[in-house]
Amino acid sequence: MMAYRRREGSLTIEAAMLLPAFLAAAIMLLSIFYMTLAGMRLQEAVVNEAAVLSAGQKIHDGVTLSSVKDDIAGMMPKESLRFIENGADGLDMSGSVIDDGEYVDLIVSCELIPATDLFGIIKVQVKRRCLAHMMCGYENGYFPDGEYVYIADDSEVYHSDRNCSHIRLTVMSVSGHEIGALRNNSGSRYRPCELCRSSIGDDELYITPEGDRYHNRISCSGLKRTVRVVRKSEAGDRRPCSRCGR
Ligand SMILES: [Zn+2]
Ligand SMILES: [Zn+2]
Repeated sequence: MMAYRRREGSLTIEAAMLLPAFLAAAIMLLSIFYMTLAGMRLQEAVVNEAAVLSAGQKIHDGVTLSSVKDDIAGMMPKESLRFIENGADGLDMSGSVIDDGEYVDLIVSCELIPATDLFGIIKVQVKRRCLAHMMCGYENGYFPDGEYVYIADDSEVYHSDRNCSHIRLTVMSVSGHEIGALRNNSGSRYRPCELCRSSIGDDELYITPEGDRYHNRISCSGLKRTVRVVRKSEAGDRRPCSRCGR
């Protein structure tokens, strides 16, 4: 009985000492969760913005890196921006290319921070990048819907929607240690590309949401795709796309 009481007493003291440490650890864990989420939301916003820009109309109307940055911040939930140092102003677009004519390359760097930095040490530098090829043929003018269709490479399918995900090639960069956990839009793992002999290191790898290969080189021909715009009457005996065809 005595022993039991003594143990109970020491447990209470230990609990009182541990509580602040436990709370601090809980806050840090929650912060890490929300920081990870903010990184994911940033990736989504970067991919969305690259997709919008690669359709051409916005670039045609005139954009600047600063307006692109505002667009990206505007697409992110306010809660996520709180976990980025300096919020929307903390997004660094250095290295991005929007006026190349062939592709849009958005590179956004920032530092993720916890809600309250109890120890003053947690800051995670992240870089999110999305490279999207411009929709072929835009420079020749606007193609009215219904009259023109889109054909990717030598495909036997034509697309009525220029934004169809089957023809939109969006390249994302990921780091080697992330690749094992990633799945493409069909739920498959990514395998090494035979063309660029890709291998997993610490280097950046390049993937597309539709593809099932990872690439070492962003210039790999496995990542390229040509989309042609033709009159519907010139589509020959191609079938309409199962996703966008009509
Ligand atoms: Zn389609
Ligand atoms: Zn490759």
